[in-house]
Amino acid sequence: MTAERAQSETACCVVGGGPAGVILSLLLARKRVAVTLLEAHDNFDRDFRGDTIHPSVLELLDEIGLAGPLHRLPHAKIHTGALMTAQGPVTLADFRRLRTRFPYIMMLPQKDFLAFVAREAERYPSFRLLMGARVEGLIEEGGVVRGVVYEDDGGKVELRAGLTIGADGRGSRLRHLGGFEQVKTSPPMDILWFRVPRKTDDADGGLAFFGGGHMLVMLNRGEQWQAAYVILKGSSAQVRAAGLEVLRRALSELVPQYAERFEELRDWKQVSMLSVESSRVTRWFKPGLLLIGDAAHVMSPVGGVGINYAIQDAVVAANVLSGPLEEKHLQLGNLAEVQRRREWPTRLIQAVQTGIQKRVIAAALDPTGTFRVPLALRLLLRVPGLRNLPARVIGLGFKKVHVKP
Ligand SMILES: Cc1cc2nc3c(=O)[nH]c(=O)nc-3n(C[C@H](O)[C@H](O)[C@H](O)COP(=O)(O)OP(=O)(O)OC[C@H]3O[C@@H](n4cnc5c(N)ncnc54)[C@H](O)[C@@H]3O)c2cc1C
Repeated sequence: MTAERAQSETACCVVGGGPAGVILSLLLARKRVAVTLLEAHDNFDRDFRGDTIHPSVLELLDEIGLAGPLHRLPHAKIHTGALMTAQGPVTLADFRRLRTRFPYIMMLPQKDFLAFVAREAERYPSFRLLMGARVEGLIEEGGVVRGVVYEDDGGKVELRAGLTIGADGRGSRLRHLGGFEQVKTSPPMDILWFRVPRKTDDADGGLAFFGGGHMLVMLNRGEQWQAAYVILKGSSAQVRAAGLEVLRRALSELVPQYAERFEELRDWKQVSMLSVESSRVTRWFKPGLLLIGDAAHVMSPVGGVGINYAIQDAVVAANVLSGPLEEKHLQLGNLAEVQRRREWPTRLIQAVQTGIQKRVIAAALDPTGTFRVPLALRLLLRVPGLRNLPARVIGLGFKKVHVKP
């Protein structure tokens, strides 16, 4: 038995309260555009999402006066990223060398970041946030998307909108409902994601350990290490069947100095298994509907840049669309303009991620070989003009975007 259908209306309906959705909603609300943000969960407190805020995002937040307040939340900073190989450590990225006010990656629990941005947006009367509102369908009339049907505790509601934005992440419901065509690549790995305690005198930064066909990335998250154990694609059931003791032993062999920390892994509930994907839609829009962030391009975790790119999409979308939305003369060309500006940086970074997956990660996961940093990368890191490239690409992206004043 369905509850009585209610109806409401907004200029822009944003589906998904992840990094792309909250930032876009805030920027539109600042421009007095009526925006309703729908988030399926009741709160932002989902575990095992990336906790990284890159220099480019900090610069964007600084442009709207929010970098200072954000830094008052408890956080950690990563200044360098290093590859820890059998031949010794290789500094891959030194963010201190970047020309930016924020030469580090800020590690902030994503739930705190999302709640912070949502709180800021709530200061604007044209912003409305609906938590626990799961979009189930699109309202389509004459080939144009006119809003969504969502479900909350009270039943189904129709929300009519001049524009609907799908910022609903890697498993995007809107991408599916809109019938968007997806091009997929096949990353060679999956990830076991967990946290272990970190002591104040532990090493700093982001560290990637290699050995024996295994790879472990550890990120300083203050009192904890956020750890990503990279395994061969499709092997998670096998790893689980082998048992936690085998996993703890493999981790301790890889990083003996932190063996006692891995003893803290006592239950599979502490470990999230994440299937790594990478894909993009060929067209980001159709009349009345635009996809941004992971909904338009699912990012591999390589380089930890997904949040960065999702937020840059949101900024460009707000820059391009707020005027037409406010003046009620939005055209299909405006949506095409968002794709035109954002498609090539995302395709470029996905191509780089695919290259790293093939040349570095596949080699690291080969149990028969000894992992060595590829020669081309070792040479690049020695050339003064080029050695900052990895830090630049990770920290700032291929193209800087700015909030339109
Ligand atoms: C293992 C792994 C580790 C990663 N680590 C990092 C990292 O360290 N740093 C980094 O930058 N990136 C990382 N990424 C990538 C990053 O998580 C994504 O690129 C980023 O979160 C995309 O942001 P988004 O706003 O587009 O989507 P999401 O963050 O996925 O947000 C989508 C939101 O939409 C909501 N939603 C979904 N369906 C509906 C619906 N039907 N109705 C309403 N709401 C809905 C969801 O609840 C969610 O809140 C990682 C990815 C993986 C797989």
